[in-house]
Amino acid sequence: MRTLIVHAGATGYASDAVFQFQRYLLDAGDECLLRQLGETWDDDEALGDAEDFDLVVLSGGDYEVSRLLAAISGRDVPVCVFPSGPVNLFFASLGCAAEPFALAHACREGRTVAADLGEISWYGADGRYERRSFSLMAGTGFDAELMRAGASNRHAMGQIAYFMAALSNPQPPVVHFSIELDGQLIEREGIACLVANTAMIQGDIEIVPNCRLDDGLLDVIVLETPDAVGLLKPVFFGFLDPSGKNLGRPEIESFQGRRVRVRAAEQVPMQVDGEPLDDEVYGFEARITPSAVNLIVDTLSPYFSGTEAESEADRASLLRHP
Ligand SMILES: [Mg+2]
Repeated sequence: MRTLIVHAGATGYASDAVFQFQRYLLDAGDECLLRQLGETWDDDEALGDAEDFDLVVLSGGDYEVSRLLAAISGRDVPVCVFPSGPVNLFFASLGCAAEPFALAHACREGRTVAADLGEISWYGADGRYERRSFSLMAGTGFDAELMRAGASNRHAMGQIAYFMAALSNPQPPVVHFSIELDGQLIEREGIACLVANTAMIQGDIEIVPNCRLDDGLLDVIVLETPDAVGLLKPVFFGFLDPSGKNLGRPEIESFQGRRVRVRAAEQVPMQVDGEPLDDEVYGFEARITPSAVNLIVDTLSPYFSGTEAESEADRASLLRHP
């Protein structure tokens, strides 16, 4: 097997684990090329010949993985996401074992899920049309405000920075959102309106239940609480019931569709995959790109589609690892 690893040289958890992972692939007799992003390679160059390989590994945190997934979208090669950043929510939402050996094993087994990616577009302050791919979530309102406030120490503190920012602004503005979802008009008041490809946040909590990245649908999420303290209730429910399937989510409403246009009654901050924009916007459009990328999953993943016997045999073979 010929593997290309594109490594974003991150500094968080497992920043060196990718080299261990590479060694496991090499030990099994695979050919394995590693390109470190930085001065020599940019995303597009590093992935230019991706289809010449049997497998491409994207190693980084959410920020880098999101960009790399956009760059490899639509290409005919299996992709493994390797979690080596300070925050790895996209990887966590796949539900695979994170140990380097287990991931190398999953790569050799080659089971994949056809995963969707989101695309969001908006008009910037100077009227310029902008468009970007996202793998996790994007949207307007209080969450973007938090990310803006937490951005300066985000890499050092991970998600905790957002909670600190939330506590410093308990009364975010409530905004009227006009949501046109696959031709249907929905009017709601809330502190944020988001679109999600996967709705997992820190702690393996799903903001809304049944959000999957292989169903060809976007989840549109409205935080309808009037203040930041109101968010504590759904977060608390999230700790008790991470999937949201038993208790649901108070103060949060969600809808599903393929294409959405969101108009805010006033200018609101916006974020794409946790990166706040400089400009505020009056809304955005988003759509889903179904089956944009074939992602490696193991038998632990909720996206694994094989039989129980297959997953037991796989676990037994992993246990034989010295
Ligand atoms: Mg979906």
